[in-house]
Order: sequence, then structure tokens, then C-alpha cells
Amino acid sequence: MAQYTPMMQQYLKIKAEQKDAFLFFRLGDFYEMFFDDALSASRELEITLTSRDGGGEDRIPMCGVPYHSAENYIKQLIEKGFKVAICEQVEDPRTAKGVVKREVVQLITPGTVMEGSMLDEKENNYLASVSKFSDGTYTVSYNDLTTGENSIALVTDGFDAVLSELFNRPVKEVVVDESFDEAKQQMFKDRLGFTISYSNNTEIDEQFYPLVESIHSDKFIEGFGRLLQYIKHTQKRSLDHLRPVQTIELKKYMSLDMYSKRNLELVETLRKQGKKGSLLSVMDHTITAMGSRTLKKWLERPLLLKEDIKGRHDQLEGLLEHFFERETIREQLSSVYDLERLAGRVAYGNVNARDLIQLKHSLSSIPEIMETLKQFEHPAVDDLFRSIDPLPNLRLLLEESLNEDAPITIKEGGMIRDGYHAQLDEYRDASRNGKKWIAELEAEERKQTGIKSLKIGYNRVFGYYIEVTKANIAHLPEGRYERKQTLTNAERYITPELKEKESLILEAQDKSMELEYQLFLEVREQVKEYVHPLQLLAEQISRIDVLQGFAQLADEQSYVRPQFNENRTIDIKQGRHPVVEQVMKNESFVPNDVFMDQTKDILLITGPNMSGKSTYMRQLALTSIMAQIGSFVPCESASLAIFDQIFTRIGAADDLVSGQSTFMVEMLEANHALSHATENSLILLDEIGRGTSTYDGMALAQAIVEHIHENVRAKTLFSTHYHELTTLEEELVRLKNIHVRAEEYEGHVIFLHQIQDGAADESYGIHVAKLAELPNELIERATYLLNTLESGRQEVSAAKEQQQLSLFEEEKPVQQKNTSPLEKRVGSLNLMEMTPMDAMNELYQLQKQL
Ligand code: ADP
Repeated sequence: MAQYTPMMQQYLKIKAEQKDAFLFFRLGDFYEMFFDDALSASRELEITLTSRDGGGEDRIPMCGVPYHSAENYIKQLIEKGFKVAICEQVEDPRTAKGVVKREVVQLITPGTVMEGSMLDEKENNYLASVSKFSDGTYTVSYNDLTTGENSIALVTDGFDAVLSELFNRPVKEVVVDESFDEAKQQMFKDRLGFTISYSNNTEIDEQFYPLVESIHSDKFIEGFGRLLQYIKHTQKRSLDHLRPVQTIELKKYMSLDMYSKRNLELVETLRKQGKKGSLLSVMDHTITAMGSRTLKKWLERPLLLKEDIKGRHDQLEGLLEHFFERETIREQLSSVYDLERLAGRVAYGNVNARDLIQLKHSLSSIPEIMETLKQFEHPAVDDLFRSIDPLPNLRLLLEESLNEDAPITIKEGGMIRDGYHAQLDEYRDASRNGKKWIAELEAEERKQTGIKSLKIGYNRVFGYYIEVTKANIAHLPEGRYERKQTLTNAERYITPELKEKESLILEAQDKSMELEYQLFLEVREQVKEYVHPLQLLAEQISRIDVLQGFAQLADEQSYVRPQFNENRTIDIKQGRHPVVEQVMKNESFVPNDVFMDQTKDILLITGPNMSGKSTYMRQLALTSIMAQIGSFVPCESASLAIFDQIFTRIGAADDLVSGQSTFMVEMLEANHALSHATENSLILLDEIGRGTSTYDGMALAQAIVEHIHENVRAKTLFSTHYHELTTLEEELVRLKNIHVRAEEYEGHVIFLHQIQDGAADESYGIHVAKLAELPNELIERATYLLNTLESGRQEVSAAKEQQQLSLFEEEKPVQQKNTSPLEKRVGSLNLMEMTPMDAMNELYQLQKQL
């Protein structure tokens, strides 16, 4: 250490405390990084790496970014999951003795960014913390620094449930104790993409007591304490806007495990990893960013209590009654800015006058919205606005104090209204009069000198000056004019009167700006008093926004209000898939009924590939979720049971990418469903067992169906391509066969996408291959093989598996006769070991060779 210059020593000392962050070390107009930070930053940010002498033997690697454009670089690092510690000079370099004092003033991390440009306005930005307790339970706490929201939940079903809880939520970073299990930390990183941070301190500081007043559980105090300690550590500034912690009682909400959240594509799609094509994207008809965030929250936690659901449905029904009034509300909502984040920034102390003008406009829309809602004359709609406080005093303050066209900067005046403050008005008069005087002087000078083009101007360097073109200089009288600046075709002068007036004007301007700044800070302080009422208001407006969006959606897509029954019956008439139906646009979606009463728990679905089995299954899950978040649903009528949990095993494409074997994933997900489902749950199992060889898979599939039928008794949709399973209907009384209808027409399959009772008759795989325009020889060969297999099936029982496998072996000589590379390749495929996905991949490769 001693070898380094004092500044480098200071750097190293600060860096030692910021080991897991990039240290942005302020040097003049730059933030510099040194040593390893410099090496990685130059790589991550693609900026030039240089070096500097720091007193040691070797030169020190260094790179830097200009402070005025730092935000963009910080953003890039944060998006990649890194943290950035901002280290500023905290004393005036001109008066400092020795090295200027520097301190870290803020630690910016993925979960704690406040800067608008780094945030997605339609999404919360959560920091989470997870604490583990000796009894095997966990707490998961959340904070959104931009909105001040805080919440906490107790998870009693082990670590998988913690992962499910966190999955798909807009969490960027998780805080844990340093001793937290390493493998589990790794899962946070790999499966959820979180940045990991540590805090071992779990004490609640006195300033935060009001936040935890309503909390009595020690676990919650500890779990939330960890989160708060970390926030305090990173922010080092006012945290007045943090709201009291809300306990999330997980029992009050439908639980969706990680697999289902992903498979059902609730907030993002499997393949594209984007929002488009998700349930959220087709449902979102909100106008405000706050509404959009709230919708996402609702979607993440469907309700379980009938009363709560009914409350939302009643309000939605009310809103549906008047189309034009709803249009008016939509228009009024569009002038409401993001009150919630605005409130956060007010508390944080970084709003300018423009922001407050936006707040003013937002506030002036509130009484209008209330007025429009009143016109619905509907008791449930009344509940939406009755308790709203439109904060008239705050609005008045903003109206009286601020200029409509206030600038973004807060130090250059122009923010405060005339008439708001007497002293400010005086200063302004002085400066305005001064300007008038300058104009008069200009006229006077022109008259006296007879120079018509003479003018008085102003620049920052010389202040006011009199400008005379070169051609007219001769007309100037001697003595009074002092030359200041020479331009190509003009000279600039000053006179004593001009300078005297100038100082009066400038002084008045300076004072007025200084005073404005002070007044603005005062206004801002006053606004700060309203942070909590503003947050409440934001919540109320968000609810109105989400529900009007639901009404809009229901109107556009002809959704209906679902009913709920108490006897475990699902009766949906002419149901549709909310996403597929919208994506299809021109082609028409074929609606289908779902019927399962008390006596039926399992629907076994057969039918060709691509006929619509998984669409039908997802449709039921999505319909239930929509109903339980308070939306209407896509069908002609629906009587539903409230599901406590939904489990799915659907889709395979993504598993191949994630590296885990398809079959293993399949079994993990199935096991998860079997061990957690209750008779009030919904289970969707799509083609279970196809990840392994035929008989193995079929045996497992059958055992799973039987287990659900006998022990779990959850409502279950089970699709399969094992026709053999359809005979189960004879033994299992609560199981019913259904199938998707397809018809053959001139050698082609036509998918009718219609669900009908009973089992499907044949597998149409080969026809699908035909549709995909596989080579004719290949199709013929497959048809031949199928026929051989089928005749074989009639002869041998399933138990004589070996014999049946040998059917393939007997065919080998035929394969060897083939000579083209394509034929060889097809011949060498081990069909019994292939999954449908493998087959598709193989097909793709084959086609490429054509
Ligand atoms: P499967 O699970 O039987 O292989 P999918 O459910 O994946 O079939 O459906 C295949 C395609 O058929 C879907 O992408 C969709 O375009 C179409 N489809 C499914 N159900 C319907 C329906 N009810 N009406 C119209 N088209 C449908």
C-alpha cells in the first residue's frame, strides 16, 4: 500500500469496501476505474483501457467515462447484473488540503435503481431478500424502491416453493446471508438470473419502526430487517417514501409453481422470452404505467377467496354498462402520470419543476375521473372512487406556485409563478425594467449618434455591449465609448451608464434565481408531506385502470362473467383460448366445451399431433386464472370451481435448450404436481412419458393416471398418444375419454380442432409428415413400418416387448440396401429411442440435405 500515491491509497481503501461493485472514482470530469475494475469495465463497456503511474512499480490499468454521460454506462453495467458504487469528491478541491476527500455516495444495483432511463415503466423493479430458518421455512421479502412498496411472505414448502414464488416476478437482485447455501445461491443465479447480494445484519433501525408496526412474527422482522439493512447500505439517503410492509398470505392466493408459470406463458412466452404472445400482453388494456404494473401483480397472484373475486367482477360488470363513459375515463386516465414513481422520486429528492407540473396535471384529472365514475350510478363502481382523496390542497399549492412551462433545470429560474412571492416579483420587476431601460438606451444612442444599425446586445463574457458596424465607427463621438471586442465587420463598446445598469439587472437576476431555487426547494418539501397520500391515490387509480382495461377487453373479445360453484364442477360452454384466438386473426378459432362434474376428475385426451390437445388444456388453465384475477373469460358461459393450485407438464422445446434431459424434467414436474396437488387443484399433463422409450413411457403414464385417480383426485387433463391408455376408462370410474376430431380427406388430414367424447381412432403422425412435405419414399417407408408394427401389435402382447423390438431388426437388410446418404441416415435412426422433438430435429437436418 505504502508504495502508492496518496490518491491511489485513498482509492484502494474505498475499493476494499466495495469488492463486488465497480467503483466509479470521481476525478475531475471523469469517473475513473483502476486495476481489475478497469480491465473488466473496458471489456464490458467497450471503452479504451489505458494506464497511469500510481507510485508502484507497474503502471496501473485504468479506464474512465465522462461524468455527464455516466448514466448510460452505469445502465449497461446494471443491465448485465453488476453493481456500481459512485464515489464523489465530498469537499471543494480548491480549499482541500492534500488529497480531496471522497466518499461513496450511492451504490447502484440491479434491484435498487431509481433512474428512469434504467427502468421499465410497465414493470416493478423488485429487490428481494430470502432468509432461511432452522425449521426449514423461508421468508421472501420484496421492496420496490421506485414505488416504496414493501411486502413479505412466509414459504413453508421448502426451497422449490421459494423458487416458484420468485419465478417470473420482476426481481433483479436477491439479498441473502453470507452463509446461505451455495448451491441455492447458484440456483438464484442460473434459474432466475438474479444478482446476489449479502447482508448479515437483520436489525430494524429506529427510523424504520413505522414500517413494521403491524408485524409481529420474528421471522418477518428478521427477513425484512435484512432487506432494509441492504437498502440503507446502498442508498445513503432519504427513504421516507417506503411504505409499511404488507404481509402476503400465500394461502389467500392461487399457487402456481415455477413450471406452470413458465409453461402457461402468463407474462412471457417460452421461446421468445418476451412479453408478446403472453397472456399478459393480450389482457393488458390499461392506460397508465401504474395500471400495467398492477395488472401484472394481479396476474402473479390469482385470488382464492370468492368474496374478493366477486368484488372485482362486480366492479367490472358495473364498468361494462356504459361504453361512452368508459371511453371518457380512458381519456382522463391518459393524463395521469406515474403518480406512484413520482411519489417515490419526490421522497428521494430528485424531482424538478416539470415533474411537479405533471403531478399537477395528474391531480386535476382525478376529480374528473371521479365525476365520470359517478355517472355509472352503480354501487360497485361507487366503491371504486368513494374513498379517493383528490388532494385539493396539494393541487392548489402546485397551481399557485409553479409556472406551466417550467424548465427541467432547477437553478436557472423560470419555475415559480408571478404573484406567488412578493420579493421574487420585485427582483423580476427590476430585471424586466432594466431590460426596458436597455431598450430605451438603444433608441437614445441611435438618435444621438445617428447610427440606425447600432444595437445593444448581451453575451456571457462581456455582458451588455453596444455594437456598431465598421462603416459607422466614424460617427461615434470621442471619449464615452470604450472598445471591448472587435469582430470582422463590427466593434463592440461599453459605456459607464451601460455597465451601471447592467450590474443592477444582473444582480436582480442572480437574486431572483437564487430565491426561486429556495422557493422551489420549499415547494418540494411541502409536496413531500403528501408522499403517502399520493401512494394511496396511485393504488386507487391503478385499480380503476386495471378494471376499465378488463371491461374494455371483455367488450372487445366478447368475454362473459364466470360463475363459481361449490361442487367441483367445471362447465364451460364454447370456451376459447384467449391468446391463440387473438393470434389467429383471420382463421377462426374453434370453441370447445369443457365439462367435468363431481363424478369426473380426469379427462384423457387423445388425437393426432397438432390437432389442438395442448391448446385445449391450456385454455382451461388460462380461463381459470383469468376468472380468479377478476377478469371475464373467453366463452359463452362458465361455471367454475376455484382452483387452489395449477400444475402443468406441457411443452418440451425449451427443455432441450436448458440442458436437462426432457424426461428428467418431465418426471420432476410430474412429481411436483403429484406431491402438492389437492382435490381442489388443476393438473395438466401433456403427453407424459414421451421422453423415454415407448413401453417405459406408457407404463409410467398409466401409473400416474391411476395415482391421480386414486390418491390425488385433482381435476386433471391428460393428453396422450398412447392409445392403449384409453382402455382405462373401463376401470377408472372418474376418468373419461375425449378426443380431438380430425378427418381424412383425399389422403390428407384435416384438423377440425373439435373436442368430442370417446377415444380417437388412429395416430395421424404420418399424415402430418406428409403435410410437412417429407420425401415420398420416406413416407412410404414409414407407412410400411407402421403397418408391420400394427400387425405385430395384434399378435404380441405388450409384455413381449423384446419380440416387438426385433421387428425393427428384421427390417435391417432392407436398410442396408439403401445407398444414398439420405437413405442411409434415415435407415440408421433408432426410432424407439427418439423423442418427438429429436425426430423433428432430425427431420430438419434431413430436409436441409434435399
Ligand atoms: P397438439 O397439442 O394436439 O399437438 P396444439 O394444441 O399444439 O396441438 O395445436 C396445434 C395448432 O392448432 C395450434 O398452434 C393452433 O394454431 C391450432 N389450434 C389448436 N386448437 C385450435 C382451435 N380450437 N381452433 C383453431 N385452431 C386451433
